[in-house]
Amino acid sequence: MPDPRYARVVPDRSGQSAFDYEIPEHLLGKIWIGSRVRVPVRTRLLLATVVEVMETSEVEGLKPISEALSDKPLINPTLIQLGNWIASYYCCASHIALRAILPQVVRNSEVKAKQLLFARLDKKPDAEAFEQLARRAPKQAGVIDFLLGLSEPIALTDLMKECGVTRNTLEGMRDRGLIAIERQTVQRDPYSEENFIHAPQLEMNAEQVAAYERISAAVRSPELNRPILLHGVTGSGKTELYLRAIDLTLSLGKTAIVLVPEISLTPQTVERFKSRFANLQGEVAVLHSHLSDGERHDEWHKINNRVAKIVIGARSAVFAPLERLGLIVVDEEHENSYKQEDAPRYSARDVAVYRAHMENCAILLGSATPSMESYHNAMTGKYELLRLLCRVDDRQMPRIRIIDLRMEASRGPGASILSETLCKAIRERLEKKEQSILFLNRRGFSTSLICSSCGHVCECPNCSVALTFHRAASRIVCHICGHTAVVPSKCPACRDPRIKYSGAGTEKVEELAAAFFPGAVVKRLDADTVTRKDALKDALYAFRTGKIDILVGTQMIAKGLHFPNVTLVGIVNADMSLHLPDFRAGERTFQLLTQVAGRAGRGEVSGEVFVQTYTPFHPAIQFARHHDFPGFYEQELEFRRKTNFPPFSHMVLITLRSESESHAAFSADTLTRRVREALESGDLPADTVISNPAPAPIEKSHGQYRFHLMLRTARITRLSKSLFAILEKLTFPEEVIVTVDVDAFQLL
Ligand SMILES: [Zn+2]
Ligand SMILES: [Zn+2]
Repeated sequence: MPDPRYARVVPDRSGQSAFDYEIPEHLLGKIWIGSRVRVPVRTRLLLATVVEVMETSEVEGLKPISEALSDKPLINPTLIQLGNWIASYYCCASHIALRAILPQVVRNSEVKAKQLLFARLDKKPDAEAFEQLARRAPKQAGVIDFLLGLSEPIALTDLMKECGVTRNTLEGMRDRGLIAIERQTVQRDPYSEENFIHAPQLEMNAEQVAAYERISAAVRSPELNRPILLHGVTGSGKTELYLRAIDLTLSLGKTAIVLVPEISLTPQTVERFKSRFANLQGEVAVLHSHLSDGERHDEWHKINNRVAKIVIGARSAVFAPLERLGLIVVDEEHENSYKQEDAPRYSARDVAVYRAHMENCAILLGSATPSMESYHNAMTGKYELLRLLCRVDDRQMPRIRIIDLRMEASRGPGASILSETLCKAIRERLEKKEQSILFLNRRGFSTSLICSSCGHVCECPNCSVALTFHRAASRIVCHICGHTAVVPSKCPACRDPRIKYSGAGTEKVEELAAAFFPGAVVKRLDADTVTRKDALKDALYAFRTGKIDILVGTQMIAKGLHFPNVTLVGIVNADMSLHLPDFRAGERTFQLLTQVAGRAGRGEVSGEVFVQTYTPFHPAIQFARHHDFPGFYEQELEFRRKTNFPPFSHMVLITLRSESESHAAFSADTLTRRVREALESGDLPADTVISNPAPAPIEKSHGQYRFHLMLRTARITRLSKSLFAILEKLTFPEEVIVTVDVDAFQLL
C-alpha cells in the first residue's frame, strides 16, 4: 500500500469523536493506524491517536498534522478496532475507549525510560601502560582489571562500590581514554529483588487430563473451537491447566494473557506463574495497580517491544499490546472487579472474549462459581463447558455446617458474633495445632453508632450511610468517601452520653477472638492493616509458616490463597450480602460462601466450614452448603427468566448526580421522557424495558444526590448506539453528571 495521505484522528481530550487531517510531506510514511500525533484544534495543539488512514479525501483544505510523536505506531490496529467496539458497546466516546487501551504513563510520555550511567572498557590497554598505571595508581589499575573480567558494561555506582573508587576517579579515567562511560536504559523490574525457582509441572488426575485435551485442541486450532468455560471446584487444579495451556501456546510461537482479579493478584499467584516460567524470567510481564508509574511504563514497553511473551495482570492487562496472541485466560471469571467502574465501564472478561474472537485466539474462562451469564452461554452452546468435579489428590470438599444465629445469639456476650458452636470448633483446632480463618467482609470495629435515647445514627455528612467506628484509629470513618471524625462522647442530637455501638467489623472479631482464645496468635488482614507495600506478603508468609493461629480478614483472604494447614473457615455473617437491593445478591452470596469455604482443607487433613446466619434456609446458603452449583444455577436462572434480568437481557444503568437534589431529579425525569419518546418512535430496540427514575439505593454519595434510570434489552449494541445519540443532543444543568453503565454490576 502506498503511503497514506490523510489520517482520521481522535484527540485525547475532546467531546467529539474524530477529525480528518492531511499528512504533510515530511511525515509521509511515518503515520499509520495507532500513531500518536499532535494536531491543531482551533488555536491549540492536542495529543491524538490515529484511528484510520486514507489515500484520498473528499474534503478540501484539511489542516496538516503538526507532529508525529514517534516513527512507529504505538497501538496496533487490532487494539484500535477493539477500542471502536468498546465505544459502541459501552456507549462512550472514542477517546474515552482509547484511554483504556493506552495507559496514562505511556500516553502522556511524561514518564521516561530510566537511564543509568554504565562503564566499560574501550580497548584492552597494552601491557606496558598497564604496569605503569599499576605502580602510579593501583586503584585505577584495579578498575581496569575488574572490567577485563566482565562481558557486559556495569552500572557506574556498582563499579564504584566494587573497586572502592570515586566518581571523580572514573570520570578522570574516561577523560584520559582509559574507560568509556555511557547512558543505558535499564528496566524497572518490580520483582527484581525476588529469586524465582523453576517449579516443574504437577501430575494431573484423569479429569484434568481430559480437560487439558480439549484446551490444547482449542489452543492449536482456535478457529475450530468455541470459548471454553472451565468450571472447576475450589482446589481442583485449574491453575495447572492454565500453566500447561500457556506452555503449549509459547511452544507454538505465540503469546498469552492471564487475567486475574486485582484482589487475587497476591504474591502467591504471581510467584506461581513466575516460578513455572522461571527460565523465561524477562519474558513475563506483570501489570497491577501497585506498580509505580515507572514500573508500569517499563512493563508496558517490555510488552510492546515484544520482549514479554506472557502478561499476567488485573483488568487492564486485557489491552496488553502483545503480537501473535494465542491464548487469553480469565481466572475467576465471575469476579466483580473485572468491571471497570469509571468510563469506559467495560468488563475485562467480555472484552477478552471479544478480543479473542477478533484475534482468532483461544480463550479460557475459569471459575469455581461461574457467573450466571457465562454458565448460561455454556448451557446454550455458545461456550464449551469443561468440568472439574474432584479436588486434586482426591481431597474431600470441606464439610459445611450452618449455624443458626437465631438460636445462638442469646447465649451470652459476643455470641451473636462468634457463636459457641464456632468457638468450640476453633478450640479443637488450636489443640491440634491446626489453623483457622474467620471471614467477615466489613472493616472497622462497629458498623454504626446509635443513640440509646433518641435513636440518632451518626451519618456521613457527604453520603447517606452510617459512619463506621475504627477503634485502632479511634475515629469514625465513611467507607464511601473516606470522611473521618472524632468519636462523639455524647449524642450529637440530644446530648445523651449513652451511645450504643452496633454491628461488628473485623476489628471487633479480632478483639473477641483474642479474648476468647488467650494464648492463640490472632492476626487481622484487611485494608486497614495492609498499608505498606509488603504487609500483605509478610502476613501471608507468617500465616503459611504457622506463626498465626487464627487469621481474621475481609475479601483479601477470600480468594485464590492456598494454606495446607487451614482446617476451619468461619463465615461470621453470611447474611450481609444477601439483603442488598441487587438482583445478583443471591448469586454473590453463593459465590462468596463457596470461595471462602474453598480455603479450608487444602492439605492432608479435611476441612470444615461454619456459616453463621439468621436465614439458614435461604437457597443461596443451602445450595452452597451442598456444593450444588447446578442446583443453584437452575433455580436462580428461573428467577432471572421470570423477571427478565441478565442473562436474559442486558442492563444499562444510567446515573444522574448533582449537589442539587432537584437538578438531579429533574434531569432524570427529562432523560426518562426523552428515552420513552425514542422507544415509541422506534429509535430504541422494541423490547426495551424502561424503569421509572428513582433515587439510587445510596441516595447521596460524596456530597452528590444520585438518581437511577434502568433500561433492559436483549439488543444491547443497538440500544447503546441510540442512547449515545440521545445523550449527545440533550443538555442538562451544567453541574449534573450523567454516567451510563452497560452490563452494570454496581447497582447501589
Ligand atoms: Zn440522642
Ligand atoms: Zn461519606
